[in-house]
Amino acid sequence: MMRAGRFRYVVAKSAAEAAQALADGGGKAMLLAGGTDLVPNMKRRQQMPEIVVSLRQVAELREVAMNGETAIGAGVTLADVVRDPRLRQHGALFRAVAQVATPLIRNTATLGGNLCLDTRCNYYDQNYEWRRAIDFCKKAPGPEAVAIDAVADDGDGTCWVAPSSARCWAVSSTDSAPALIALGARVTLLSSRDGAREIPLEALFHDDGMHYMTKRADEVLTRVRVPHDGVRSTYWKLRRRGAFDFPALGVAAAVRFGTAGVVEHARVVLGAVASKPLLLPESSLLVGRALTDDAIAEFVDATARWAKPLDNTDFLMTWRKQVSKLFLGGVLRELRGDDVQTFPLLARRAATLRNPVW
Ligand SMILES: Cc1cc2nc3c(=O)[nH]c(=O)nc-3n(C[C@H](O)[C@H](O)[C@H](O)COP(=O)(O)OP(=O)(O)OC[C@H]3O[C@@H](n4cnc5c(N)ncnc54)[C@H](O)[C@@H]3O)c2cc1C
Ligand code: SF4
Repeated sequence: MMRAGRFRYVVAKSAAEAAQALADGGGKAMLLAGGTDLVPNMKRRQQMPEIVVSLRQVAELREVAMNGETAIGAGVTLADVVRDPRLRQHGALFRAVAQVATPLIRNTATLGGNLCLDTRCNYYDQNYEWRRAIDFCKKAPGPEAVAIDAVADDGDGTCWVAPSSARCWAVSSTDSAPALIALGARVTLLSSRDGAREIPLEALFHDDGMHYMTKRADEVLTRVRVPHDGVRSTYWKLRRRGAFDFPALGVAAAVRFGTAGVVEHARVVLGAVASKPLLLPESSLLVGRALTDDAIAEFVDATARWAKPLDNTDFLMTWRKQVSKLFLGGVLRELRGDDVQTFPLLARRAATLRNPVW
């Protein structure tokens, strides 16, 4: 049985108390929300905080409010996001969250924990003995290094995915972040030093597998705000097992249509192909025209360059790149009203034909 190392457990009663405990921890403290990511990581010695600050008794983080916009507390469970009929208007969020893990895990896992999820890599998401056998890697370079998200050092050791690389290429695998970025969400970060600050969700992430968040180690993510701006949105996820699995690719899109089906606003985001969710700058190419087959094909051609998966998660990377084109076109076809029920089946069929790992 794997056991976590020794740590001090602090129970916060408010977000401010949690922020104070992080500040007092001097970079050696981490927050525990549902614990569905952090606890396995602690048992595998990937993350080894000396102080664990529990958010589980912080009631203020579990509130959902609708007031011309949607405000969701970071401590709201994924099950409650899926169950809340008021949140159904945000189609991409519902689709993404409903596909995270299993119902049992969603009962405990929180939205804040999902946004701050550690990045993933085949050489990292292994137990301690497995990683010791390959002499560890940059992201978790052994027992003496205390690897805590934003305060991890630059990493000794080799990156087994790209041995000559100075950086870590572990992959952002959160399902909710691409969806919420497409929806134009903003997040509030609270610290005892600076109080609250709000940033666009896309600004929360760095494209770096180790330093994957811009959030400081002393900041608590307290709230996610989603505008009500009349968009239609969706999220498509590629994963090995239909029942539950991390995304090998996620594509989220939010589009607002004006008269005659002309696009007024569009945001398309790729997940699980880089160390952060990628908000595609070419989304603006969709604006000012109808979503015709030609418009969609041009968009897919222009954006395919962003999907550059590495060989450190599931499936062959070349195949994942091909599926990203299929999904980029598929989300837009769904939003313009096509019946796309057969699309995932097509992807699975393509997998059987082309991917020997399937
Ligand atoms: C079998 C299995 C399958 C999974 N499948 C998926 C999947 O398909 N898609 C997916 O996205 N995830 C998946 N996960 C990962 C995880 O369950 C979810 O991402 C979950 O939402 C994490 O939330 P949590 O509350 O449990 O986070 P925790 O484990 O408590 O925390 C995760 C990280 O976020 C930080 N954190 C938590 N709350 C805050 C906050 N308010 N402010 C700042 N930092 C915070 C923690 O310090 C930690 O670094 C899976 C996990 C398992 C075990
Ligand atoms: S990408 Fe490289 S450094 Fe990062 S976790 Fe994987 S092997 Fe380690």
